[in-house]
Amino acid sequence: MTHSAAPAPARAAHYAGGAAKLTIDLTALRSNWSYLNDKVGNSCTCAVVMKANAYGTGAKVVGKTLYHTGARVFFVALPEEGIELRKELPHAEIYILNGLFRGREKIYYDFNLKPVLSSLEEITEWSVFAQSLTEDLPAALHFDTGMHRLGMSVEDALKTVGSPHFLKGIAVDLVMSHLACADTPGHELNIKQLDRFRRVCELFPNARKSLSNSAGMFLGADYHFDMVRPGIALYGGNPVPGGSNPMLPVAHILAEIISLREVPQGDPVGYGASRVAQRKSRIATISAGYADGLHRLVGSSDDQPNGARVYIGGRFAPIFGRVSMDMIAVDVTDIPQEHLSRGAPVEIMGAHVNVDELANFAQTIPYELLCSLGARYTRHYKR
Ligand SMILES: *Cc1c(COP(=O)(O)O)cnc(C)c1O
Repeated sequence: MTHSAAPAPARAAHYAGGAAKLTIDLTALRSNWSYLNDKVGNSCTCAVVMKANAYGTGAKVVGKTLYHTGARVFFVALPEEGIELRKELPHAEIYILNGLFRGREKIYYDFNLKPVLSSLEEITEWSVFAQSLTEDLPAALHFDTGMHRLGMSVEDALKTVGSPHFLKGIAVDLVMSHLACADTPGHELNIKQLDRFRRVCELFPNARKSLSNSAGMFLGADYHFDMVRPGIALYGGNPVPGGSNPMLPVAHILAEIISLREVPQGDPVGYGASRVAQRKSRIATISAGYADGLHRLVGSSDDQPNGARVYIGGRFAPIFGRVSMDMIAVDVTDIPQEHLSRGAPVEIMGAHVNVDELANFAQTIPYELLCSLGARYTRHYKR
C-alpha cells in the first residue's frame, strides 16, 4: 500500500472550510481603550486586563495592538499567560493577578512578571527570594476591602507596614483592591470598599493605587485613583448595565446557512421535538452550535418560546428549537427570499446581536460567553 501525500495547500485560506468566523475588530478595540483612557484623564493610567486569552479574543494580537495604541500596563491571571505576553511585549509592565504561585518565583523573575501578592505568605516567599538575589523585586499588593476572594485584610496591611522586615527586598509599585458590586452602582458595598481602600492607601504613600475594573470606572472619579483596570469594556461588554453601551462591539461571529426547508404547520423542529411550527415555516439550519459557545439556553421550546435571535439580511430571526452541538435552526419565514441561500452569512454576534444580549439569553454574563467561544472558529483580525 502506498501513501501518496495530498499536495500541500499553497495557502490555507484557499481551503477555508465551514467553521464559523470570529472576527476581532481591532479598530473598535483601540477605540474602546482610547475612550476609557480619555475618560480617566492624564493623571490616571489606563491598564489592560487580558486574562483568559484576552477574554477569548486573542492575547497576542490584543496585547500588541493596545501597546501600540499607548497602553503600558497589562494584567493577566497566570504566569503562563504572562510569559506568552512577554514574548510579544518586551517592555510592558505585566502583573499576574492570581498572585505568586507557590515555588514559582523564578518564572516571574526570568520573564519580568510582577506578582500581585495577596497574603503575608506570598509576601514572605517573594521577599526571601528577592533577598537571595540581592536585588529588589517589584510587586503589587492586593487588599481585601470586602469581596473576600483574594487579598490581605486591612489588619494585615497595618502589620506589613508596621514591621518593615516583611517587605524587605520588595519594591511595592502598586496597591490594589477589587470591587465586588461595581456593576450595581447603588450597592452599599461600593462605598464601603472605597472607604476601606482609602485607609489602606494612606499606609503606602509611594505606591500607585488601583481599585476599579470596567464598571468601577463609571462609578465616578473617586474610584479612579492612579490606575484603572478595565477588561470587559475593552472587548465591547457594557460597563454600565442597564444604560446604553458606550463601547463598540469587538467580537463578531458569522456562520453560514447550510440547509433550508419548509416545515408544515404543526410539525416540530430539532432534538426533542421541543418546538412546533405554529404556521407553515421556512427554517434555515446554520452551522454553529454549542461546541462554538452558543449555550443551549439560547435555544427555544414551546414552553420557552423566547430564545435568542440572529441577524440575516437586515432583519432579526429567532432561534427555533434546541441548540445542537454544531447547528442551530432559525425561523426565517419573515426574511426576504433573496437573503436565503445555502452559504449565506448569518450574524450570530456582532453589531446587531450584541454580546450582552446573547449572554443574557444564555443566563450568563458577556465575560463567560466570550471566554467560552472555543477553538473551532477561524479567527480573523480586522485592522
Ligand atoms: C478581571 C479583573 C478585572 C477586569 O474586570 P472587568 O469587569 O472585566 O473590567 C480587574 N481587576 C481584577 C482584579 C480582575 O480580576
